[in-house]
Amino acid sequence: MSPTILIPRLGISQTIKVLQRSGQRRHEGIVFWLGRRAADRIEIVEVYEPAHEAKADFFHIPPHSMQDVQAELRSKRLMIAAQVHSHPMEAFHSQADDTWAVIRHVDAVSIVLPYFASRTSVNTFFSESAVFQLSSANCWLQVPDHGKDLVCRMSQ
Ligand SMILES: [Zn+2]
Repeated sequence: MSPTILIPRLGISQTIKVLQRSGQRRHEGIVFWLGRRAADRIEIVEVYEPAHEAKADFFHIPPHSMQDVQAELRSKRLMIAAQVHSHPMEAFHSQADDTWAVIRHVDAVSIVLPYFASRTSVNTFFSESAVFQLSSANCWLQVPDHGKDLVCRMSQ
């Protein structure tokens, strides 16, 4: 069993704010959920927006920005449990998303929000999002709706 990612309500609302701010500029938004593993779960303690370049259908995190992320992880002893990004239209995992995903560990989670998250609220976050998980065969597989709760959910 892979650990369940638990994120507090505040973390979801911070995530939505970042994605919506990018969306207002017609750019994809990207955040990382940083957390700590504890037995059967990963508790998210920080929503981190990496320095990046973005356009309407694209984002790129340059190497110096990834070094900043790594320093943050080391100093706080955290891991990137999930990456969350927005799309202008439908939520899916594009070829570029598959290839350029920042996190590559087995069970890594990638969440995609449609319409720049402009219609998303804390309560609709998980129902609107498409959730993908990296398999042991290194493929991003979409988690079916009924399985999302086991992969990631709001903790409070
Ligand atoms: Zn994408």
